[in-house]
Amino acid sequence: MSWIKDYVRTIPDYPHEGIMFRDVTTIFESDEAYPRMIDEFVAHYRDKGINKIAGIEARGFILGGAIAHMLGIGFITIRKKGKLPHDTHTEEYELEYGTDALEIHVDAINEGDNILIVDDLIATGGTAIAALKLINRAGGKVSDACFIIDLPELGGSNALTEKGCDVFSLAQYEGL
Ligand code: AMP
Repeated sequence: MSWIKDYVRTIPDYPHEGIMFRDVTTIFESDEAYPRMIDEFVAHYRDKGINKIAGIEARGFILGGAIAHMLGIGFITIRKKGKLPHDTHTEEYELEYGTDALEIHVDAINEGDNILIVDDLIATGGTAIAALKLINRAGGKVSDACFIIDLPELGGSNALTEKGCDVFSLAQYEGL
């Protein structure tokens, strides 16, 4: 079992009945776990030719910013609709109830950028695939995506792999 599971707080029935919410704020709050986790991601990506990180609001910023700093590369912000000030591309995606939308600045990507998507958790993959489509629309190529936690039974990591994106996660949980 991954050491990181000792630091994940599970909250049953949040935000809806039947969901096991995997709370990673308990990792971020730990002087031991947060830097150790960042070091694991950095070791994995150090020689992979990644030259930009795209973090998904909001926990992807806390993770991705630290990884980008350690790798000495830039950071692209993927935000919820209406938060970015300049011209944007928008992608809607399905939620359990209704839809949500993510945005990227149209000029966020430089030609040839090889991008790593970063978020805290992948479940159905709806969020990460919306991010991948935004990056493609802005002219970038996504080679990799990483998460602290994967819920493989929900199919998101498989769907990303099928789109040619290598997925790396530190811990996996069964079920929702
Ligand atoms: P999905 O788009 O279905 O892959 O869901 C991933 C997004 O929803 C991530 O940004 C997560 O923060 C959040 N999320 C989905 N399921 C959970 C869960 N069980 N615990 C914590 N966060 C979750």
